[in-house]
Amino acid sequence: MQRLHEDMNLLVIKIDKMTSLLLNIKQRIENYKSLKYIIENLNRHLDRYSVVDDLLDFIFNLIAHQRGNCLLYLVDTLKQKLYLFATRREDERTLVKAKEGDIFDLWVIRHTNSLLVEDARSDFRFDFGAIEKSSQRAIGSLISSPLLSQDKLLGIIRIDNPLTNVYNQEDLRLLGVIADFAAVAIENTKLLEEAKELAIKDSLTGCFTKNYLIERLTDEFLRNIKESKYLSILMVDIDHFKLYNDKFGHIAGDLVLKEIGQLLNKIVKDRGMVFRFGGEEFCILLPHTDKKNALFIAQNIVESVRQKIIFLRRYKTSVTVSIGLACAPEDAILEDELIFKADYRLYQAKQKGRDRVCYV
Ligand code: GH3
Ligand code: MG
Ligand code: MG
Repeated sequence: MQRLHEDMNLLVIKIDKMTSLLLNIKQRIENYKSLKYIIENLNRHLDRYSVVDDLLDFIFNLIAHQRGNCLLYLVDTLKQKLYLFATRREDERTLVKAKEGDIFDLWVIRHTNSLLVEDARSDFRFDFGAIEKSSQRAIGSLISSPLLSQDKLLGIIRIDNPLTNVYNQEDLRLLGVIADFAAVAIENTKLLEEAKELAIKDSLTGCFTKNYLIERLTDEFLRNIKESKYLSILMVDIDHFKLYNDKFGHIAGDLVLKEIGQLLNKIVKDRGMVFRFGGEEFCILLPHTDKKNALFIAQNIVESVRQKIIFLRRYKTSVTVSIGLACAPEDAILEDELIFKADYRLYQAKQKGRDRVCYV
């Protein structure tokens, strides 16, 4: 009887172990099923913001169980520094002071490796005193993974919690797998954004292309009509540019186009968009701008261009521009009509002696 009892006890212990193993495996299967769903979703997005948004939602639910803080840092390639890009927090009032990352994040970067800290206070790799001083929030444990795409560090993803021993190796492994896929998805959206920019920007002047103008003009027209707002357009053409080319050469001419393009963007800023309409012709779209304000901008352009000195080795040169201005709805209620009016007024400005704006 006693032997049988002992055997039974051993079997009970064995069954307990097997049950917990089974639960563990079931949990893993669930996690990896979610992983498939996550990866498919991350690759569906076309912009970085939605990739990161989904990524943080997944991680915060699946690994953090909506506890603690989930932070995503990206690398600013110019400054070679991290910057906090997005967060999910259990308590929205929690402040994340380390906008450029803390010593845990720097560890992950330096080692380009994942990090599991079970108890921040007793982890000999980190100076806990310094952490407590620099951070307003309590950090008991954390896991963190670098976002690596083809060996390039894009950023890091991390989850931390005020309590100790919240995460285990399995959590870290899952975070690492998700981070690898997320990095590829983030890199893809970056390439896509760059390709899009190439398609809509003129390489010489940095202004938007004519094709993009047609797209934008339709959008702006629809929006402005719906909101019954003004929409002004400026047609800007460099005066006697053929003569300039003949005198100083085509390469010098290109330099002028580049400088004028930059100047126009500097003047317009976020009040509108500058497009290269043709060879030496620019078109400026000014949403929510009435004729009076558009005229003010146009006159500023004429004067600024006139005063701008373009250096060509030994020579100081300059050009002037003529501008035709038209404003919807008072001048036109259709897109083509608005462009036609602005073009006609540009022609009038040329007729009247150039270096001026025509607006009626
Ligand atoms: P107007 O005052 O009447 O506008 O005279 P214009 O000489 O500027 O006008 P026209 O249309 O006769 O000539 C435009 C010139 O612009 C012709 C061409 O040599 C020059 N041009 C067009 N595109 C480019 C370019 O990409 N680079 C350079 N360097 N010149 C260009
Ligand atoms: Mg010209
Ligand atoms: Mg022209």
